[in-house]
Amino acid sequence: MPRILITGAAGFLGSHLCDRFVREGYEVIGMDNLITGDLRNLEHLFPLRQFTFHHKDVSNFVHVSGPLDYILHFASPASPIDYLRIPIQTLKVGSLGTHNCLGLAKAKGARILVASTSEVYGDPAVHPQTEEYWGNVNPVGPRGVYDEAKRFQEAMTMAYHTYHGLQTRIVRIFNTYGPRMRLNDGRVLPAFIGQALRGEDLTVFGTGNQTRSFCYVDDLVEGIWRLLHSDYPYPVNIGNPDEITILQFAEEIIKLTGTTQRIVFEPLPKDDPTQRQPDITKARKILGWEPKVSRAAGLKITYAAFQALPKDVLYKQEHRDFEGYVRK
Ligand code: UDP
Repeated sequence: MPRILITGAAGFLGSHLCDRFVREGYEVIGMDNLITGDLRNLEHLFPLRQFTFHHKDVSNFVHVSGPLDYILHFASPASPIDYLRIPIQTLKVGSLGTHNCLGLAKAKGARILVASTSEVYGDPAVHPQTEEYWGNVNPVGPRGVYDEAKRFQEAMTMAYHTYHGLQTRIVRIFNTYGPRMRLNDGRVLPAFIGQALRGEDLTVFGTGNQTRSFCYVDDLVEGIWRLLHSDYPYPVNIGNPDEITILQFAEEIIKLTGTTQRIVFEPLPKDDPTQRQPDITKARKILGWEPKVSRAAGLKITYAAFQALPKDVLYKQEHRDFEGYVRK
């Protein structure tokens, strides 16, 4: 049975990856410090002998005993509002956490795939974004702690590949959605669905003309599975090129949920990218991958999952009003 370590296992993407690798017959070792992760995402895996969990912070130290075939480094806050709340941890897990994981991969002779992001392109001047584009990032803006940590992560990973001959893979993940997103993490989809479920107005930031392209989580997991098992060491975009404006997205959520609430406009957060769409030519060619789940189908599944959440989760406000987020 191949053994895989998944960091950030209790998070949205990490937990879906645990499910997939368990299903494929892997022995899965999950690791998370539970700052933004939630053990409820993994509860169903705990009874399985195939699955173990370590409550650890990979930014400090990471080790597992015994052989290891693969590492997926997915530990990181992933919502702009979290970068403001825990900026130092965000920087550390992308940089020091990545270094620790690479060191472990080297020690074990394991293949490692690191979770990078469309945020390496910043507020992109090239559209759609190809892997060759170097990006437009403000290092000292509110998103810099995430963007620059991930850019460092890519550089560090390539250095381990070229200098140590380590087997490395880099996935650049575009906006992804699905069940198990934290309802109050501030990102647009849980924000809108949460507002609809609570009977609040939907908050569109700025004019709503900024665009995003949303990928359903199962499609993303399939892309990651294929990339891990490919022999391609350079960054690959995985995302759904179906691009819409945030205003259109709000209208879709209103239709989906049947809410009678209105759209209200709030100031655009600083450095909010104006447009984002993945060019997935490479993923198509190298991995034979493209997304299969339409936004209509994916949103239906996601909405049903959010509807099933207990009331206390729905009304837990967390840091939705974090000072400084909505400020131009
Ligand atoms: N957004 C919004 N209302 C919200 C939350 C987010 O209009 O309540 C906008 C945000 O300004 C951005 C887009 O939705 O333009 C996507 O934001 P998200 O935080 O989900 O992720 P990003 O793609 O910016 O990292």
